[in-house]
Amino acid sequence: MQVFSEIVDIRQARWKEPSTRWGLVPTMGFLHEGHLNLVRRARNENDRVGVSIFVNPIQFNDTKDLDHYPRDLPRDLALLEKEGVDLVWTPTPEQVYPENFQTYITVEKISQPLEGKARPGHFRGVTTVVAKLFNIFQPDRAYFGQKDAQQVAVIKQMIEDLNFNLEIIICPTVRESDGLAMSSRNARLSPQGRVDATWLYRALSNARTAFEQGIRDAQKLKGIILKTLQEKNIRVDYISITNPVTLQELEIIQQEALVSLAAFVDEVRLIDNMIIG
Ligand code: AMP
Repeated sequence: MQVFSEIVDIRQARWKEPSTRWGLVPTMGFLHEGHLNLVRRARNENDRVGVSIFVNPIQFNDTKDLDHYPRDLPRDLALLEKEGVDLVWTPTPEQVYPENFQTYITVEKISQPLEGKARPGHFRGVTTVVAKLFNIFQPDRAYFGQKDAQQVAVIKQMIEDLNFNLEIIICPTVRESDGLAMSSRNARLSPQGRVDATWLYRALSNARTAFEQGIRDAQKLKGIILKTLQEKNIRVDYISITNPVTLQELEIIQQEALVSLAAFVDEVRLIDNMIIG
């Protein structure tokens, strides 16, 4: 496994055998099974696998969140080596955003609600770094998790709008055995917070059960989610039921819907989602 921080080294390694098919898994590190599942899928579907580990400062609107973001590069590299990854990019912020950096990518409409509203500038940071990753690795396929459902929608839109020549593969959310969606941020939960955090999945599951029992009114389903979270005094940031592609809020669910939420447990902001219908 080759590990580089310089862009020129990544480019050279990627183009050493031009006919090889490359899969790319972008991450912010502190890897868990959710990330490794993306890596395995990329490993199965491509000749070579590249992974980036970069805590992208410009997608954090809250400096405390950035400062507390967990990191453990030696452990991450050991995990990736075991998965048979070929190439890892571990740049510094200065390498990604040199002094005179001034070009950003904004996907206009679908970046605005939900995470975009709660975290101003977040998706501008995500799309800018992902576009750079695509240009640097020039992968044939790139792998993302459904855990970040809006990110998936925004990146798909960017690829279409800017004609990036690659395929996007979306992998299902990997959960702990008690349902909690795996996240690097879970490491910041207290033992009690870790227990309370399972209520996010429970809340989404309750909404799905209600939907399966015939409830189609989005407000009612949101009420069920809120009530479940309130049982644990979990502070809700948003609860949303939208069209999964356009992210427009639905009143009545007729087809597939994306049920998503953001909430604070131990002051750690967690997100989760479920597709119903
Ligand atoms: P992150 O390191 O949090 O930026 O995540 C890197 C990639 O892994 C993103 O495409 C995430 O959507 C994906 N990911 C993170 N957690 C999970 C999970 N629990 N299941 C599936 N994919 C995930």
